Amino acid sequence: MGKNNTAAEPKNEKEKNDLMEKIVSLSKRRGFVFPGSEIYGGLANSYEYGPAGVELKRNIQEEWWRVFVRERSDMVGLDSSIILHPKTWEASGHVAGLVDAMTECRACHSRTRADHLIENHFEAKGEKISVEGRSEAELDEVIAQNKIKCPTCGKFDWTPVRKFNLLFETHVGIVPEAQSKVYLRGETAQGIFLAFKNILDSTRVRLPFGVGQMGKSFRNEITKGNFIFRTLEFEQAEIEYFFDPEAADWKELYDGWKNAMHNFVTTTLGIKAEKLRWREHGDEERSFYSKRTEDMEYNFPFGFKELWGLAYRTDYDLNQHMKFSGVDLSYTDPTTGKKFIPHVIEPAVGINRLMAMVMLDAYTEDGDRVYLKLKPRLAPYKAAIFPLLANKPQLVELARKIHGDLQKHFSVSWDDRGNIGKRYYAQDEIGTPFCITVDFDTVGEGDAANKNTVTVRDRDTGTQERVAIENLPTFLHGKIYN
Ligand code: ATP
Repeated sequence: MGKNNTAAEPKNEKEKNDLMEKIVSLSKRRGFVFPGSEIYGGLANSYEYGPAGVELKRNIQEEWWRVFVRERSDMVGLDSSIILHPKTWEASGHVAGLVDAMTECRACHSRTRADHLIENHFEAKGEKISVEGRSEAELDEVIAQNKIKCPTCGKFDWTPVRKFNLLFETHVGIVPEAQSKVYLRGETAQGIFLAFKNILDSTRVRLPFGVGQMGKSFRNEITKGNFIFRTLEFEQAEIEYFFDPEAADWKELYDGWKNAMHNFVTTTLGIKAEKLRWREHGDEERSFYSKRTEDMEYNFPFGFKELWGLAYRTDYDLNQHMKFSGVDLSYTDPTTGKKFIPHVIEPAVGINRLMAMVMLDAYTEDGDRVYLKLKPRLAPYKAAIFPLLANKPQLVELARKIHGDLQKHFSVSWDDRGNIGKRYYAQDEIGTPFCITVDFDTVGEGDAANKNTVTVRDRDTGTQERVAIENLPTFLHGKIYN
């Protein structure tokens, strides 16, 4: 054990696909992620987070909140509504602009995003192109010129490309009239601009400062997603960092955010830097109001893909909401009295996408052993407690007591089924960093020197040590939050 305990690095396409399949199957088997609405035959691009998955997802969320909101004195938090006034999305440009170009195969009726169809076609040939910003006619031309076939049925018979909006529409009230139409938010960021004035009026924030918000966003994604990478609803974590462009150098702030994002992914989430890269948006791809946009990309089994976006959005959003609402959203400098519209830098990420990365990155095979080498603070359960034998009341009773005591400090798990080997195997697969066993020594029926101590087995090395019961909380705390 422990001779090759580094995360698996897939070497070729087959290994990459295998890794994805292994994660999807482990997710279902061990209660991380289930296909959505499975008993009704499933619903594309939707998932449920099981008992282990919800813990992992929450841990990533909590880390994000801790690092970017709680531990920064220039940040405050917000939790705005999912359903906002519909004018929000006109002002933000999402009604006109959150659109994808789609085409349908006339033979098998499967729908696909034209940009994904083209990009995947070229990627399969080892070429990389980006068609963002191209018109429907231009996309039609690329598909026709390259005779790109339907990935589902292999035919070449596409309908003309047309645009469709990704915002989900619904109605407030019982009569679906035009005035009652609202949208489920397509991003969390707009809620921050709507609350900007209230935040200024109710707190002591001074520029530069940021507002962080995390919550569900919804997009009508039609391309079959890669597991939880792209879903209909997702947990988004966004920051609007407001500043005076005359008092601060935006490039410096921008680079500061790049470092903070990179640091979070590598240090807090434990991802290797070589799996990450930055990609700057070209003129065609970047929104007209943005001065710079870059994506941090992670090398997923399906290629380098956007993980986290960073955009300098100037004063566009606040200006738009001022125009559409008629409310003054300017900031007055308390020292100089200067009144102006602040500019913003926006780091935006999907927690579910972070979670997919974390699971793929942590998957480790060591001989017959499979384990998720998660950072202990991200692990769904920090420790699992076992009585050596389930039919010995003295062992079970003490193990139950230890479990109950540790539950007050950490998320912990319990297992008394099968033999110890099987229990280790199950805990390894969900990434539990420590397994604690109560044996006969513990209860004073074996080696007297070990009385009131338990065996603690380390997930990554497989090694075991004896720790006094009373020291367990401090021991675990030191190992998990070091
Ligand atoms: P993509 O090009 O992958 O669709 P995007 O550029 O539209 O992403 P943004 O609008 O910049 O994404 O959203 C910010 C972040 O939110 C993304 O970097 C990603 O992490 C996450 N995200 C966006 N759409 C989804 C989705 N459908 N499912 C999961 N996460 C998403």
